Amino acid sequence: VTSRDVAWIAIGDELVDGVVVDRNGDWLAERMADRGWKIAWRIAVRDDPEAIRAALATSLERWGAAVLSGGLGPTPDDRTREALSRFLDAPLVEDAAQRRRLAEWAEERGVRWHEGLERQCSRPASAEAVDNPAGSAPALRSAGEQGRWLALPGVPHEFRACWTFAGDGWWPTGAPSRRQSIYRFSGIGESSVADALADRFRREGWEVTVLSSPGEIALHLGGSAFDDIARHEVERTLRLLPDDAWFGTGEDTLEGAVARRFDSSRRTLALAESCTGGGVGSRLTNVPGASKWFLGGQLVYADVLKVRLSGVSPETLSSEGAVSEATASALARGVRQRCGADEGFSVTGVAGPGGGSPTKPVGTVWFGWSGPEGERTWLRRFPGDRRAVRVAAIAFALDRLRRTPADAGPVSSELGGDSGDRLH
Ligand code: ATP
Ligand code: MG
Repeated sequence: VTSRDVAWIAIGDELVDGVVVDRNGDWLAERMADRGWKIAWRIAVRDDPEAIRAALATSLERWGAAVLSGGLGPTPDDRTREALSRFLDAPLVEDAAQRRRLAEWAEERGVRWHEGLERQCSRPASAEAVDNPAGSAPALRSAGEQGRWLALPGVPHEFRACWTFAGDGWWPTGAPSRRQSIYRFSGIGESSVADALADRFRREGWEVTVLSSPGEIALHLGGSAFDDIARHEVERTLRLLPDDAWFGTGEDTLEGAVARRFDSSRRTLALAESCTGGGVGSRLTNVPGASKWFLGGQLVYADVLKVRLSGVSPETLSSEGAVSEATASALARGVRQRCGADEGFSVTGVAGPGGGSPTKPVGTVWFGWSGPEGERTWLRRFPGDRRAVRVAAIAFALDRLRRTPADAGPVSSELGGDSGDRLH
């Protein structure tokens, strides 16, 4: 079964300049996949009638179908209507139904009639205008010899409402596309493990994609032969991976996996963060209802607060340094006690660019954990710049926190290598 192709054209200077990311295209791609269509070409175009016309002409010539968004609004920089008229070689004519709707729309809101509303009453003679249930600019569409296209307003919530109203029932439904499955992993080092995994699933009729982001790897599996039996087999294989590497599917997140553990164990957690500056806590609070198990913590960036808030002894700091196993331990223990949590977790490291030394180069990060089972620490050396080190440290902390303390490591990692894993 092959899916049908459609081009996606996002219109607006801000999208080309990279000031705004094209969210409509992502949203549409999913809707289209559900109905057996694939985005074959995706392009961002300036608010320039000639560029818009050319993009549409190319799209329809090559793929026969296109969806456009943006530039239908009331302001003079909205030029899509004009571009469509050029493409169709049809003049802009007044649409009586839109004039009535816009007049009502304006009256209900106490908006005085203006030039912009006037413009929105017009459509290319050979196109159809469809009411916008969420705003003023109507959608425009046409299915003729030149191909099928649908132009929707750019404001994301209007885009969605108009798709439901003007697209959903009108756009043909192709062969129902087989669903992709996404499997998510953490704590399995980087590419080598993921590639080995991907190789195992390279079969006739299966499509395999590996996407890695810091501390997390996603395996996308799909294809014509990827059915429920295949899914079953994959899950059996993944459950056998060492170190509980597989933590979720679909839209699951690492922080969600942490939440699952704390919810089910009915334990509470407190954090002491130094080089991550609250980044771990920020991720944990992405999860709704996190206050049931995440108490909060301490942002102890300078030594003075490591002492005052977390109770690290000044002697430890002066003899071992802030980035050390002893400090990581003391932080985890201190925050656990002072916050009255079941578990305490700490992060302290050298994010760079300054502050490194031969024994503690930039990227050196110590993690500490303290709980009813005892204490443990981990040492990692993360590559990259300040941002990369911080992001990797946050992901590593979440990966440790999602595991039950009894099986919280050791873990192979070409990043860290010299792991300081131990149970005291
Ligand atoms: P309006 O009636 O608001 O003028 P419009 O159809 O003319 O609607 P635009 O002017 O292109 O839409 O964009 C309106 C707003 O929506 C802008 O803030 C723009 O940045 C945003 N927007 C447009 N296209 C997209 C997109 N593809 N993804 C995310 N935001 C978008
Ligand atoms: Mg606009």
